[in-house]
Amino acid sequence: MEHKKQKSWKQAMKLNGRGLQILYRHYPQAVLSRIVYTIWTALTPYIGIYLSALIIDELAGGRDIHRLQFLVLLSLGAAAGIAMVTALLNRWKVIYNTGSWLMVERIYSEKLIGMDYAYLDATKTAELLSTIRQNETSAGWGFHRLMNSCEMLCSSVCTLLGGISLTVSLFASRVPDGTGPFTVLNHPVLVLLVIGLMLAITYLAPALSNKAGRYWAINADSHNLVNRLIGFFALLGYDRDAATDVRIYEQDKVCDKYNQDKEKNIFSSKGMFARLSWGPMGLYQAASAGVSVVFTGIVYGFVCLKAWAGAFGLGSVTQYVASITKVSGGMSSLIVALGHMRNNAPFMEQIFTFLDIPNHMYQGSLTVEKRRDRKYEVEFRDVSFKYPGSENYALSHVNMKFEVGKRLAVVGMNGSGKTTFIKLLCRLYDPTEGQILLNGIDIRKYNYGEYMNIFSVVFQDFQLFALPLGQNVAGRVDYDPVRAEDCLQKAGFGDRLEKMPKGLETYLYKDYDKEGVDISGGEAQKIAIARALYKDAPFIILDEPTAALDPVAEAEIYEKFDEIVEDKTAIYISHRLSSCKFCDRIAVFHEGSVIQQGTHTQLLSDEAGQYYALWNAQAQYYNEESND
Ligand code: ADP
Repeated sequence: MEHKKQKSWKQAMKLNGRGLQILYRHYPQAVLSRIVYTIWTALTPYIGIYLSALIIDELAGGRDIHRLQFLVLLSLGAAAGIAMVTALLNRWKVIYNTGSWLMVERIYSEKLIGMDYAYLDATKTAELLSTIRQNETSAGWGFHRLMNSCEMLCSSVCTLLGGISLTVSLFASRVPDGTGPFTVLNHPVLVLLVIGLMLAITYLAPALSNKAGRYWAINADSHNLVNRLIGFFALLGYDRDAATDVRIYEQDKVCDKYNQDKEKNIFSSKGMFARLSWGPMGLYQAASAGVSVVFTGIVYGFVCLKAWAGAFGLGSVTQYVASITKVSGGMSSLIVALGHMRNNAPFMEQIFTFLDIPNHMYQGSLTVEKRRDRKYEVEFRDVSFKYPGSENYALSHVNMKFEVGKRLAVVGMNGSGKTTFIKLLCRLYDPTEGQILLNGIDIRKYNYGEYMNIFSVVFQDFQLFALPLGQNVAGRVDYDPVRAEDCLQKAGFGDRLEKMPKGLETYLYKDYDKEGVDISGGEAQKIAIARALYKDAPFIILDEPTAALDPVAEAEIYEKFDEIVEDKTAIYISHRLSSCKFCDRIAVFHEGSVIQQGTHTQLLSDEAGQYYALWNAQAQYYNEESND
């Protein structure tokens, strides 16, 4: 797995740097506020340390009451001022960083919305994003880890700088001559030795801790798997759609097995992470803690010996001990932060693989002419198409010209390519071979959004939102209620609308409003048709729009179909031939090719044709229609 390979420092810094740039571009205030807050809180403690040292020195030395008074007031004033500014900065930070998980999600969501549909639809994209998300939720890898380590980096650098400036005099100050063996403390070799020892330990403690941390990165895969299992099984009770099955088949029992299985659940007391904690991960962590204590011992020893020998006063002892401990803490967290960044780099790379998925579709720039006469002529010219990653052609050599304002029916058995044909027409995919032309120009040359605007499609798997009915129909918050109502009437939803407690303002489903209404599949389909009408695009495409409607509602829609689509060019996909009789032209798809075209009567007269065979096969179910 990629994330097990460690990146070089240079690569790691580049990847993290790019991540930070992206975060800053999306959320400048969030990044700035966190960094400013971090720097402020890292530096201000030194003011307290410095002033306290002065007070203690004064108490133990000069004992000048006026100076003491002044120092105490200064300390109090500084503490109050610092606390106030800290609170303000914290507020700034909190305001702009609330919901940081959502902020990162928005970056992905923005990419997904702008992505070519072909990539969006690809399993590989879904898998990649799912892995990114799992790495994020399981151990915070990715943007969250990046931001935290940046904070840590800033904080440690500031702590280090502040600490060093208050510590230099410890090594520079001399033990007075004539203090016997203590003068050895002035010897430069000893001073260097102490500094070297401190640095070595300061490096060792976080390095050991980072080694322990690597086990999380190395095991991210199994970690993710278990998170997925837990995410599914432990949250099963929340799944409303599964609730009926769960009750009838007592599926929770199956799930409990996975939840509680000590081997499968790597977080259990016998699981992998428990074993690692008892083993190498725990040992590294313990060694790191032990080494840190040795450091404190050396600091106290050195400082106290120098003070004992008279190199400096009591106040300085507190100052040095406090600031060296901070220097060491700063060094450690600097190393930990850098380690985090390096461990995080492969995860950032994964995120960039996702964010760098190209957007080919958006390269066209021609504007689509706005025509009041709706004369948009679309033509398929020898179009063939294979789904990405698929060996077989879903469409082959399709030639078709749409007659403006006419009704075209596309019929054929399941899997014959009808939906694919529509997806190409709406430019969700581009043809593998051949061209689709709008008013004589390849559709790839047009601005993508504008081209999309000439189509209203009701797909079989359309989605409605748990928002007010009117907003669903209009696709926006501010809508024209008269037009929305009119479209709902035309789609056959009029009676139901009258029964809606708040009319167009009634929420669909109960997700966001307890007074929301649950609607049936057929009702949802009518709303989806109304939504297509509201868009009022020159092309209206209905992909098996009546599949979930009952026969009465279906008949109602057919009867009114002509009136519903008005002067639009309509394409109507169905495997029920009886629904297509009224169309001006019918195209019969078979295994990705258009094998017949004509009116219902023309096609039925060809007794050797597929249409005739399909018609007769279905006529058994529609007896009255077979007499037509
Ligand atoms: P229809 O709408 O006539 O039922 P489709 O257009 O959905 O047929 O499918 C045509 C062919 O393309 C089928 O063989 C189907 O398996 C294949 N197909 C559809 N969608 C995809 C996809 N996303 N990836 C790969 N193959 C697909």
